[in-house]
Amino acid sequence: MSKLASFKELMREIDITSNIMNTLSWDMRVNLPPKAAAYRAETMGFLSGKLYSMKTSPKLYELCGELSAVGNNDRITARMIKEALKEYKRLTEIPQKLYSDFTEHNLKAELVWQEARAKNDYAMLKDSLVKEFDYKRQFAACHGFAENPMDGLMDEYEEGMTTKKLDKIFDELKASVKELLGKIDASSKAYDKTFIFGKYPIDRQRAFCKRMVGIAGFDLLAGRLDESAHPYTTGNNKYDIRMTTRYFENNFTNAALSSMHEMGHSVYAQNHLDDLAYTTLDHSPSFGWDEGQSRFFENIIGRSEPFWAYFLPMAQTYFDGLYGMKLNDFYNSLNAVYRDPRRLDADELTYNLHIVIRYELEKTIFAGQVSFDDLPDAWNLKCKEYLGITPKNDAEGVLQDMHWASGYIGYFQNYVLGNCYDGHLLNKMKQDIPDMYDQVANGKFDEILGWQIRNVHTHGCFYNPEELLERVTGEKLSAAHYIHYLNDKYSRIYKL
Ligand SMILES: [Zn+2]
Repeated sequence: MSKLASFKELMREIDITSNIMNTLSWDMRVNLPPKAAAYRAETMGFLSGKLYSMKTSPKLYELCGELSAVGNNDRITARMIKEALKEYKRLTEIPQKLYSDFTEHNLKAELVWQEARAKNDYAMLKDSLVKEFDYKRQFAACHGFAENPMDGLMDEYEEGMTTKKLDKIFDELKASVKELLGKIDASSKAYDKTFIFGKYPIDRQRAFCKRMVGIAGFDLLAGRLDESAHPYTTGNNKYDIRMTTRYFENNFTNAALSSMHEMGHSVYAQNHLDDLAYTTLDHSPSFGWDEGQSRFFENIIGRSEPFWAYFLPMAQTYFDGLYGMKLNDFYNSLNAVYRDPRRLDADELTYNLHIVIRYELEKTIFAGQVSFDDLPDAWNLKCKEYLGITPKNDAEGVLQDMHWASGYIGYFQNYVLGNCYDGHLLNKMKQDIPDMYDQVANGKFDEILGWQIRNVHTHGCFYNPEELLERVTGEKLSAAHYIHYLNDKYSRIYKL
């Protein structure tokens, strides 16, 4: 077998193994009988060990070097080599023992977090958190970083991102969001988010959500919509994408918007170039880009008035409780701005501040400016500073998210980066498709989705995050377009 064929075969094996793991993890969250949990965890552990060995195999590393030295590789092969070497470096920089200790610790810490949150007992989780941050500090040292340990961590999720770049974006964003919130507080308008609450039978919600995502562009012949405790998306290949949502009887918009969010991740995965199959290039270039697509369909489209101009009349045929509800009242309630200490219950605007709170606290912890004993108070102070409220307990304060206990530290910013990418994309899309929202109001999504496919989805991870943005919009990442979108949207809703 030629060197090129050997290289491609190794990459194909990596791709297939990781796709098997994706399908098994989906099955674990959606279908697994409770007694099978330990057995499945062992299977997943076995496969993840195999995957690690494949990605760090000396043979693969050698082949990358030899093929690069020869040069004249086609575009796909050249990118595959680059990505394989990046992954090899990232994985081998961390000693294997350190990585397996960390993985084992995460599994335990997640269970401790579940109990600590249920009992509202921060002290129970404290030692696990100390360890998590310590592991991550060691990881950052292994990877190396310019100024802040966070720089060594964020690069895994968003190549090239640093705290210096992010601080600039976040400072601009948080100042604008706070200013806008002040205006909303001072306005004479006030909307109640519970106005749209009611009784929405779950089986009807299932049928409605499926129909809605099908119309909006999710290919139901190349994917599924199921249920799990935490909505998410994964896939085996572009023709087999699995997404989940969850249903609450009192509010169907929760499942509808979470389905639209996951649909954003899904259509991204369903529309990579066919040639990228088995190359390991059939994914987005970063977590920020992936979140950008999900938040585009959830917020920019799914929380817009034209979207509900089309879907509210349809929803009224599914849910008796919506009978006679006016579009404007529905839309204002769906977009009501309020202060909630919980990120997952936040509105679209204050959500950004929830992320700022976490990002700033992570930096403070790494700088040694706050002790783990004082972390709950530090959290509450930040919450007061940005949202003007104090969580009534740690369960809705520092304990609310699982991320830190699961080892996702230096991760939260991806959600806001996604919003900023969306600001750029929306600005460009409006120039290219001036009547885009008229099309949405008529239930037509082909042109909008086609634009995303052509400009974003098809490329997989062919370009770095910054390169892709420049390619699509000719711009460098900033919060400006997103801020403009927020100001425009809320000025209309609150008549500012
Ligand atoms: Zn997401």
